[in-house]
Amino acid sequence: MSNIVWHDHAVTKEMHAEHKKQKPCLIWFTGLSGSGKSTIANALDHELYRRGQHTYLLDGDNVRHGLNKDLGFSDSDREENIRRIGEASRLFVDAGLIVLSAFISPFRSDRQIARDLLPDGEFIEVFMATPLDVCEQRDPKGLYKKARSGQIKYFTGIDSPYEQPESPEVTINTAENSVEQCVAQIINYLVEHERIK
Ligand code: ADP
Repeated sequence: MSNIVWHDHAVTKEMHAEHKKQKPCLIWFTGLSGSGKSTIANALDHELYRRGQHTYLLDGDNVRHGLNKDLGFSDSDREENIRRIGEASRLFVDAGLIVLSAFISPFRSDRQIARDLLPDGEFIEVFMATPLDVCEQRDPKGLYKKARSGQIKYFTGIDSPYEQPESPEVTINTAENSVEQCVAQIINYLVEHERIK
């Protein structure tokens, strides 16, 4: 490690952002399985695309099949999963993109590590506050059923903890609002905080 020299880039983060005519940031979705992270992140990605923003969506399943396919669901593997996603997200933000990351990310300390990688204002935590019973009723991938019957161990919300954010930038409840309303809520936040026009 000590022999690795960090090169200054000729094209800086600011130049990438200017080129794309936008303010890059990381929108971090956290919440239980089935709380709507993927659904809302995808719909928001599409709306940002429609508005001419340059975005990239990192999602639990695609990362677990590639970058993090060597990791499982123990506490230490979950921590390493989120650490790598934070670092990868930061690189995309450096490239001038608005990044959407949708991962359960159950531990407060791991989300804090991701937050600390970016300057103030560039990490936007979106807490999916959908209640557990609603997530379990939806069970879009049949995972709660498997967790309840013991086929899956260490499932967040069942036999592995989920630590709610203490002061998320945005709180979304998909049990009470439509996909369009949830997307509008995040867009409003981004406009009010001058991340997008
Ligand atoms: P996660 O990524 O958090 O595991 P998903 O987005 O995969 O969650 O699953 C959420 C499920 O809830 C989907 O089947 C989706 O169609 C459904 N759903 C129902 N109402 C909403 C809503 N208002 N917002 C988001 N998802 C909703």
